[in-house]
Amino acid sequence: MATGSPLAHAAAIPAPPGIPPSTCTPTAASGNTPPPAATAATAAPSSSQHEQDLAYIALALAQAREAFAANEVPVGCVFVQNADGAVLARGRNRTNELRNATRHAELEALDRLLAPTAASPLPRPYPLQGITLYVTVEPCIMCSSALRQLGISRVVYGCSNARFGGCGGVWDVNSIDHPIHPAYEALEGYGREEAILLLRRFYMTENTNAPAPRSKARRVLKTDIPPLGAAVQAP
Ligand SMILES: [Zn+2]
Repeated sequence: MATGSPLAHAAAIPAPPGIPPSTCTPTAASGNTPPPAATAATAAPSSSQHEQDLAYIALALAQAREAFAANEVPVGCVFVQNADGAVLARGRNRTNELRNATRHAELEALDRLLAPTAASPLPRPYPLQGITLYVTVEPCIMCSSALRQLGISRVVYGCSNARFGGCGGVWDVNSIDHPIHPAYEALEGYGREEAILLLRRFYMTENTNAPAPRSKARRVLKTDIPPLGAAVQAP
């Protein structure tokens, strides 16, 4: 998707060739059946990761690379319909461009997903039911809460976010008890290495949008990847 282009939206963008529909199990949020219990997040080692999930996280990483090229914190995401594997929306950070610290990748994509009345003709309590979010970095507390209030079924992400994460990094927003909104499953570790390296490369550069830019000319890119489940200093 073009950087900074108008947020044109099709009802459903076909999945790229070779990506089968997701086999994720939608929650039962629409009926009277209680949703399944969810833990904060499950770290998924490479050996247990499904090919289709990796294909979708690759699309999210492409969005993160686009953010990097636009001098934004490199986080990207896609929303995928579980039933048929359609990519419903893509997004990346635009906080610098819009001078709005809430314009995270997830909320950018949600605007594209939910605003068109053709895609959602009637308001629904949980419009993200039956949908999986693939995002390169653990959603922050704000986004984790928004996703829960909208009934997301599942979140698959790259690296944890030790400073702001809402799926266990800082707080278990996805799984803590709540009288109304169903919990959702969160899986960590998909595309994790590239997600971490993108963040490191970004923070090595001069962030001219920071309130007090610091010189980082002497910094050296670290290429070691901490073990899965270890805290990562993400934005
Ligand atoms: Zn966020």
